[in-house]
Amino acid sequence: MTQDNSVERRNDWLQSYWMPFTPNKAFKAAPRIYERAEGHYYYTSEGTKILDAFSGLWCCNLGHRHPKIVEAIKAQAEELDYANAFNFGHPKVFELANVVADQFPGDLNHVFFVNSGSEAADTALKMAIAYHRLRGEGSRTRLIGRVNGYHGVGFGGISVGGMVNNRKFFGSLLPGTDHLSFPYDPAAQAFTQGEAEIDVEPYMRELENVIALHDASTIAAVIVEPFAGSGGVFVPPKNYLKRLRDVTKKHGILLIVDEVITGFGRLGAANAATYFDVEPDIVTVAKAINNGAVPMGAAIVGKHIYDGFMDATPAGVEFFHGYTYSGHPLAAAAGLAAQEVFREEGVYEHAASMAGYFQEAVHSLKGEPHVVDIRNIGLAAGVTVEGRDGAPGARGNEVFVKTYEQGVSVRANGEHLAIAPILTSGKAEIDMMIDAIRTGLRAAA
Ligand code: PLP
Repeated sequence: MTQDNSVERRNDWLQSYWMPFTPNKAFKAAPRIYERAEGHYYYTSEGTKILDAFSGLWCCNLGHRHPKIVEAIKAQAEELDYANAFNFGHPKVFELANVVADQFPGDLNHVFFVNSGSEAADTALKMAIAYHRLRGEGSRTRLIGRVNGYHGVGFGGISVGGMVNNRKFFGSLLPGTDHLSFPYDPAAQAFTQGEAEIDVEPYMRELENVIALHDASTIAAVIVEPFAGSGGVFVPPKNYLKRLRDVTKKHGILLIVDEVITGFGRLGAANAATYFDVEPDIVTVAKAINNGAVPMGAAIVGKHIYDGFMDATPAGVEFFHGYTYSGHPLAAAAGLAAQEVFREEGVYEHAASMAGYFQEAVHSLKGEPHVVDIRNIGLAAGVTVEGRDGAPGARGNEVFVKTYEQGVSVRANGEHLAIAPILTSGKAEIDMMIDAIRTGLRAAA
């Protein structure tokens, strides 16, 4: 049989896959297909080499196909493909829990594995409600998120999340949530390099007011990202997270910090808890835990949370929750390999050493056409372009496409472009990203 490579056949071939968070019709009219990747680059089906300026989707912090991770997955598949996750274990999942817990401050030393950031968020929210109930405070069920926050796409995550498009059809289905305003005021913070040194107390007074409104006895947890990643890389002012910790603690409210993006090096530290010197009650991670090679996430909890469940349940299952693929052997093997690479190659330290250069480079885009704001922290940055009247997101998408045509892949969310270099990037890669974005900005109408 001869192969039919006609445009009609190819277009037809694209139809069955309903793509996530993608304008399907636009994509299928002009597809971008990655066939292979290595190191800092993707290679498309047309043979074009594309610099990955978004670490996959905030997940491939070590770049693509690191030989140690590839080897670990192969070896694991040969040895143990799957182990029943309920009532059974396998060595690597216990080992990885220790390696991960060791990187978080204080008592954050128990790790519940899941398969994604969304599952990690929903798991953490359920833990918070159950924890209070087991302590005899069953009225604490309310969950507080933040405007412009992203905690994945499960019902829990979208309920506390604050991205309007993700919520508008179903975000109110989990009753008993509320949202804090987002601690970013463009009038005071636009073009800030790193964290703005402005007064955070107005945000704390708002939190106190929300607590007073509902009464602390009804609130289980506050959940926030250290910086809003999917919302466009918006960085709260200095001391925000520390003060949030103070206020939540004062009222017996758990603080959940969503480190799905910041976990494992993005800030040039092991995690945001370490970077900001804050000890949350629960932290969620995913993505770079194993360099995005096999789906995996986790909720990491303080000793008091774990002990709360253990002590309240004399016998039997302490937490009726879990997934078939929790702690999957392939994911755990990839995780151990990735964690070894982070350590052996000094990747967090390298990222920290590049953060200043990256900051200067990205802020050099100030003054380019359409640019109305630039923000950065660690090896993450957001560039906002002015929207076109009546066409929200059109200019952001155009800059994204024009940048891609320069051989560099960033992410656009509406008018916000996000850049998340692979953590082993050097000056050459950073220069290449910024040059391509500059050209993209100049080329956009
Ligand atoms: N939480 C945060 C902060 C995220 O950035 C993301 C994804 O980008 C998620 C949760 C959801 O993760 P996943 O897509 O693995 O479900």
